[in-house]
Amino acid sequence: MTSRSEAAALAVVPPLSGLQRMLLRDMLHDVWREHVVEITNLAVRFHSDEDPEIGAQLAKVRRSLVDVESALDRLESRSYGSCDACDRRIPFEQLEADPAGRYCRRCQPPSRGSATKSGISRSVRS
Ligand SMILES: [Zn+2]
Repeated sequence: MTSRSEAAALAVVPPLSGLQRMLLRDMLHDVWREHVVEITNLAVRFHSDEDPEIGAQLAKVRRSLVDVESALDRLESRSYGSCDACDRRIPFEQLEADPAGRYCRRCQPPSRGSATKSGISRSVRS
């Protein structure tokens, strides 16, 4: 048993195949639709509630919608799949996990607000 997978991870990342690009485009389209539905739902709730928490959530989903749209643009312009910071190719597995991601693992900016997933305060009244 050799550590081949380790060596492979260090090797040059192959360019995305046509099939992989198609797959990622489909995934991005799905995410896009989900975001639009979520934004619509949140906007309706925010309209009746004006809960700042819903407003913050709305802003967050909007931001990721912009990310998805820019990923789709990049997919068309063929600049998709390269790291924004170092220009290295991002491995397909990583794109599959996060199709809108624009950085390789090394350049990944520290994730902000990963701890802000505060419990959804839903007051249950009956
Ligand atoms: Zn990079």
